[in-house]
Amino acid sequence: MKAVRFHDYGDADVLRYEDVPDPEPGPGEVVIRIRAAGLNHVDIDMRAGTSRLPLNLPHTLGFEGGGDIAAVGAGVEGFAEGDRVTPLYQIACRHCEPCLAGRQQFCARLQMLGVQRAGTYAEYLLVPADSVVHLPDAMTYEQAASTQTTFATAWHCLITRARVRAGETVLISAAGSGVGSSGIQVAKRAGARVITSAGSDEKLARALELGADVGINYTTEDLTERGREATDGRGVDVVLEHVGGSVFERSLAAVADGGRVVVCGGHAGEVVDLDLIELFRHEWSVIGCARATEAELRHVIELVGRGELHPVISETMPLSEAAAAHRRMEDRRQFGKVLLIP
Ligand SMILES: [Zn+2]
Repeated sequence: MKAVRFHDYGDADVLRYEDVPDPEPGPGEVVIRIRAAGLNHVDIDMRAGTSRLPLNLPHTLGFEGGGDIAAVGAGVEGFAEGDRVTPLYQIACRHCEPCLAGRQQFCARLQMLGVQRAGTYAEYLLVPADSVVHLPDAMTYEQAASTQTTFATAWHCLITRARVRAGETVLISAAGSGVGSSGIQVAKRAGARVITSAGSDEKLARALELGADVGINYTTEDLTERGREATDGRGVDVVLEHVGGSVFERSLAAVADGGRVVVCGGHAGEVVDLDLIELFRHEWSVIGCARATEAELRHVIELVGRGELHPVISETMPLSEAAAAHRRMEDRRQFGKVLLIP
């Protein structure tokens, strides 16, 4: 089969579209014919060698995908060739203490597609059958490739970790990203008022169409000042922050007394200055968010299938053009998800 792999860390040119052996399902496993694969910004960090995630080279990236069952291993029940499916991107052991407590993101033996295992930038994917979900009839392969790392992460951040309540004001960073465009929808669904930031007026116009109430262009406007202005000086109750660096610092300064900042990314600067006096005087909470639970992954797939959440797809490109797709994300030209079609 064809897959996109890299043999060395580096810029987008290290991605090679090449022949690799076809996977064969062992007992309890299935092979999925991938019809759409989703890109994530962390793919770029893994390729560049800056992600702090353990990889064995050569490596196939790709957390998410949608496709059809192509082969079924011995002892697998509930799946047949041709079934439309999506693999859960977190493959948990189901036996350790965090797994038994329903917190699979902390599984002691967690394997993620595109990290510890070969990912979805390929024609075929080998996975355990108990980590595969049937697609709801109304859900497309492209939506399947755009749902888990976006909506489940936003859900875990906003609903589970930050406990956003109706009537609160939520500031969401980077409206054009997968987490940003899904965070807007999850926060609105919870009854919050949404302020969002982006680097262009065009992206902000799209964010307002998705339901955001206020848009801030962080390249031409002061994020802190505008965030406070939009709340009559009071500040926002919650920030969903996944950019890092000065965006984290300026977002924190826009938070109301007693407010919380939930963090699930930091590509633009992973180590930041934090003024502890400001932190305790304002009783701010800074909350980490590591992906999502398996229940949340399954829940958002259902909600997308029911048409209650809408994945935002920026564009689809052929799998053979993975390097160009990475460059597109590096230039921040997309609004929503970039997908690869094998
Ligand atoms: Zn486990």
